[in-house]
Amino acid sequence: MARIYAFANQKGGVGKTTTAVNLSAYLAAAGKRVLLVDADPQANATSSLGIDGSILPYCLYDPIINRKPLAEVIISTAHANLELAPSAPALAGAEVELVSMFAREHQLRKMLEPVIAAFDHILLDCPPSLGLLTVNALTAARDGVIVPIQCEYLALEGLGRLWQTIQLVREHLNPRVSISGMVLTMFDPRTNLSMQVVNEVRKHFPEQTFRTIIPRNVRLSEAPSYGQTILAYAPTSTGAAAYAALAQELLAREGAA
Ligand code: ATP
Ligand code: MG
Repeated sequence: MARIYAFANQKGGVGKTTTAVNLSAYLAAAGKRVLLVDADPQANATSSLGIDGSILPYCLYDPIINRKPLAEVIISTAHANLELAPSAPALAGAEVELVSMFAREHQLRKMLEPVIAAFDHILLDCPPSLGLLTVNALTAARDGVIVPIQCEYLALEGLGRLWQTIQLVREHLNPRVSISGMVLTMFDPRTNLSMQVVNEVRKHFPEQTFRTIIPRNVRLSEAPSYGQTILAYAPTSTGAAAYAALAQELLAREGAA
């Protein structure tokens, strides 16, 4: 049975997609069968893998709203072992249409059930909101939420609301969900502020915070414009080394659990 994690933080631009995409690539390279689910209508995870969701026949909208089997929507990527459930702008409609659906919070969870045995890891990239797509991802995330935190001013702003939302989902929708990991991203060793954020997050979340810190690295920001993961684009960069280490740390945690 696959481990299922949601990558969530309603704050925008904190590294959710960069982390979900590159962690997926390194988990796949480690021999794990990985499904990356792009649950964001911005489709950044899809385009980061060099795929244009808008020209595909189907996207995540179809299984969520039209009950199309997910297996018919999943596509392969440039990486062996890494498959993608793509997003496209049409997914924005799902956020609206879900509102009036029965069991609206459970659509993503139910849609994943038939493929859960086919993968070792399923990573859900969420949009920067706490709307129904994110709530669906939290409900499906059997192994918890991984929260990327940008090492910047106001990094912890809004975490309380995310925490409350996760709590509500745990009480009502998915008793297994909690914050299982926090990833510090865009760390800049030259600024005191970056170090302050690291210390603050580690103080509040000593168990959850990954030891691996993702540095600010220009290669990480360039890779998506070439439709490549950091593993394909710049495997010797500091960003690549960090995501490789994060994948190993996650696997070690899972092995210890
Ligand atoms: P959104 O909330 O819009 O979905 P996000 O949380 O998914 O955003 P990303 O898209 O991963 O965040 O990152 C935001 C921007 O920062 C992107 O342009 C990305 O390439 C860049 N970025 C992410 N991580 C790093 C890093 N470690 N070093 C340099 N640039 C980074
Ligand atoms: Mg994103």
